[in-house]
Amino acid sequence: MSQDIHILPEKLCNQIAAGEVVERPASVTKELVENSLDAGATSIHIEVERGGKRLVRVSDNGSGMGREDAFLCVERHATSKLRSEEDLSCLQTLGFRGEALPSIAAVSRMLLRTRMADSMEGWEIYLEGGDVRRAGAAGAPVGTTIEVRNLFFNLPARRKFLRRDETEFGHIADMVTKLALARPHIQFQLFHDGRLVIDVNRQKSLAERVADLLGTELLKGLVPLDYSRNGLRLQGLISQPITTRPTANLMFTFINGRYIRDRVVHHALREGYRNLIMKGRQPVVALFLEMDPALVDVNVHPTKHEVRFRDQALVHDFIAAAVRETLQPSSWAEARSDTPAPPPSGPPAPQAFSPNRPVESRERVRETPLIYHEKEIRPVPEAPFYFSTAECDATGFFGSLKVIGQYRNSYILCQDENDLLLIDQHAAHERIAFEKLKLQHRESGVEGQQLLFPLVLDFDHREAAVIGEHLALLRQLGFELDHFGGPSFALKGVPRILTTEEGEGLIRAVVGELVSIGRSALVEQALDGLLTLMACHRVVRANQSLNLSEIKALLAELDQVGFKAQCPHGRPVFKRLTLQEVERMFKRT
Ligand code: ADP
Ligand code: MG
Repeated sequence: MSQDIHILPEKLCNQIAAGEVVERPASVTKELVENSLDAGATSIHIEVERGGKRLVRVSDNGSGMGREDAFLCVERHATSKLRSEEDLSCLQTLGFRGEALPSIAAVSRMLLRTRMADSMEGWEIYLEGGDVRRAGAAGAPVGTTIEVRNLFFNLPARRKFLRRDETEFGHIADMVTKLALARPHIQFQLFHDGRLVIDVNRQKSLAERVADLLGTELLKGLVPLDYSRNGLRLQGLISQPITTRPTANLMFTFINGRYIRDRVVHHALREGYRNLIMKGRQPVVALFLEMDPALVDVNVHPTKHEVRFRDQALVHDFIAAAVRETLQPSSWAEARSDTPAPPPSGPPAPQAFSPNRPVESRERVRETPLIYHEKEIRPVPEAPFYFSTAECDATGFFGSLKVIGQYRNSYILCQDENDLLLIDQHAAHERIAFEKLKLQHRESGVEGQQLLFPLVLDFDHREAAVIGEHLALLRQLGFELDHFGGPSFALKGVPRILTTEEGEGLIRAVVGELVSIGRSALVEQALDGLLTLMACHRVVRANQSLNLSEIKALLAELDQVGFKAQCPHGRPVFKRLTLQEVERMFKRT
């Protein structure tokens, strides 16, 4: 047997690597565009035919390559971006493996044409299935064009797995959207079968780019976020709780300029929106996390959408807090005013990776790091899309309204300067009751209840280790567990408001999350669910007549609680009709 060991031929290696790197036309597009970005291009032109199965052509105005590099770049492990092991921990480029071009070349007909700015002539290389068929000097504009035709022409089994043109093109458009979101200052054009589908010019801000790619209507539902702590910085745009989608498709998250789709990050975002959006709905976010590259491994998967953080829990809590405190800025200022946060010590993000910061009007108050300006983090009022979460955070906002009356015993009508406000009295009451219950709960802790007969629960070894580390935390949450030998624990107490079975189910889910994410909010979630239910039963229903002093009392109470723009089910508490809107209704403008 051992005599049979041999080194695989280069060509076969490339085909195997292609299996990992090249999944479909969208992955080809991604690799080519990332190379263009790494080459410093400011304009990238992408043409595809038949969903990319017949052709993917990417042209850029980047650095171009000289003769030697043009030949080298289609060789395996040829890269200009990585020289030593140390470089690997502080990568600033999107590529580094030197694997993409040879892999793509191995499974297609590839034409590469490139010219450097200071060179009189360009170079052209044509390969079929990785073999160079033709090469020579050629006229070319400065930059690089790579054409990939007939993907998988030599691997019929893989070609068969490609989907309909529209489906494959959908993946490409999606990929280009993600790349374009991360680089507002770069021009992108995407054509499908001659039709221009994405066309974004160089732009100044993420907000402009979002408006162009995803629509101005959507942008109106977003608020800027910019938050730094412990060397981490998170910035971008996130939806107000009222702007949601049924899927996570519009949750765009990036780390150091690279698109990622990570469990820990998504979990943290959901945690930030907990109790603010309706069940089964997802927020819209375009968020950029900047952190020391040495503290995150982007090298875990060739398509590089998953990452591994050195400290998962730290990143998780940071993101959740950033979202929470952006949606409720005043509570943040109150809670933190006595303990000033340390100045951000994070590495300045490489320029190319910093998407421009959102929304001009916001820019002015954010010139210096946000934590030094606690009073100023309240969004600027003239920006049209802030009112529903933030304007009402002004102290005494609701109390200052002029009460007009009650409509159908369910809605309170008020006047704020020139605008008309409609308040859903049931939703308002629910939020108040919920926040109060939560406060009580937080002060008294979760009350545990001893079980008559302890329950012996078996876990696997990883789970058992995690339980061992978190016994004190679990006790705070109302769970009492004792080590019972091996990976088993005796469950002796559960939160009073749960049955034993619910308690067991919850503890298993919590441990599962602690193992995979390093954090669990399931207990809080379960408790919030119960508190929501309790709140809902305690409060005034719709259809209840309120007199003026009852209305005033309700408004004053609303001023006392957080997150008052939504009830705990995520429904809005109030809506505003501006004078202009009313006038428009009556055709007075
Ligand atoms: P990697 O991006 O991991 O280095 P690739 O196989 O994608 O590996 O590319 C190999 C090399 O070819 C790159 O390191 C770069 O030097 C060069 N290259 C590829 N595409 C371009 C381009 N569009 N413009 C300039 N150089 C390029
Ligand atoms: Mg590359």
